[in-house]
Amino acid sequence: MNAEIITVGDELLIGQTVDTNSAWLGTELNRIGIWVSRRTAVGDRADAIRAALDEAFTRVDLVIMTGGLGPTKDDITKKTLCEYFECGYRQDEAVLQHLTQLFSKRGRRLLEINKIQADLPEACSTLMNQMGTAPGMWFDRNGKVLVSMPGVPYEMKHITETEVLPRIREHFTLPSIVHRTLTVINIPESALSKELEPWEQQLPSDIKLAYLPQLNTIRLRLTASGADKRALEAHMDPFWNELLTQCKPYLLAAADTSAVAHCAQAFMNSGTTLSLAESCTGGNIAHLFTLIPGVSSIFLGGVVAYANSLKTSLLGVPHALIAEHGAVSGPVVAAMAEGIRAKTGSDYAIATSGIAGPGGGTDKKPVGTVWIAVASKQETRAQKWHFYGTREHIIERATNTACYQLLTFITDTA
Ligand code: AMP
Ligand code: MG
Repeated sequence: MNAEIITVGDELLIGQTVDTNSAWLGTELNRIGIWVSRRTAVGDRADAIRAALDEAFTRVDLVIMTGGLGPTKDDITKKTLCEYFECGYRQDEAVLQHLTQLFSKRGRRLLEINKIQADLPEACSTLMNQMGTAPGMWFDRNGKVLVSMPGVPYEMKHITETEVLPRIREHFTLPSIVHRTLTVINIPESALSKELEPWEQQLPSDIKLAYLPQLNTIRLRLTASGADKRALEAHMDPFWNELLTQCKPYLLAAADTSAVAHCAQAFMNSGTTLSLAESCTGGNIAHLFTLIPGVSSIFLGGVVAYANSLKTSLLGVPHALIAEHGAVSGPVVAAMAEGIRAKTGSDYAIATSGIAGPGGGTDKKPVGTVWIAVASKQETRAQKWHFYGTREHIIERATNTACYQLLTFITDTA
């Protein structure tokens, strides 16, 4: 089944707000068997809202709309929908009670402008908004459904989860959709697609393959839909297993994940600890690890040793080693990784040193040259990589690759 999303708000059209609601809704609807087949953004204008609705309902039976439900004059969605469905207003007792309680809890007086939020078009049923003041609305005209929700993302999400998804499941007969996603690293999309061509050619027409490239990672997604979820899973199994086998040399994860998140999860699962000595990545790896909840159980910390003097004073890299090989070299990153591991007592350590550009490159060590080392108690391995792109891209690519190198090291040395 297909649905469309209409987002309302001038701020979306002038780029002041990025439409994250559609992306989130697309994921949630897809989970319950609904494909979002089109997304439309319109300004806070009655004619634009009406036209978007008319068009959408020629194509689909379910339209989800967000935005324009604030109490202020610039928000006109409710009024427009009332006219669109040719009805008057009713006061919703439950909403009025919710507003009264909400305002008294916040110690504020309920103003007339707030009370108006309890007036809803007679043609809709109410979708209670426990997170805010503007309720959502569910219109059903001859089986075709329009859901209208406030634009504030956390309110919209709450209403969707508690009210909208259960009602959609009740109202429509939905198929199952099965997605399987894996993530590969450091192989260009074109090269990968060439390798996978024979496999792709014998893929049945009801299983779709999508390439979702990011910086130096690509997510490959297999998708099938049908009535019976278990039958779909079984149908997909052999093709998925073959895909995993073919991607093995570049496989980062058999999941839709980032390199850092995958690495952190692997460490959290095994209870092993990690420390970092970062030069060219400048703390980016540490920053991304820190964003993951619960990572304190495995991530001990690290240093950003940018200057050579700090590589020596903080990590114990011999000055002579830097003088002989240069800071961007195998022996130096190896010593950095061993240094931080010895200082922190972690099970594993990563070190990075490279030339992020745009200046600083030489013939022997062009911009994008990055050495990454991984150390354990028993062994240290350093590897040279060549990345391209802007300074930021090189840092991101090095970050992803450092995680990949660490995971590969662990598998190889296990
Ligand atoms: P509204 O329901 O129009 O009062 O929306 C209130 C706020 O929600 C706006 O100020 C935006 O910042 C935010 N918002 C509205 N639509 C979206 C959207 N599609 N994605 C993300 N945020 C949104
Ligand atoms: Mg608005």
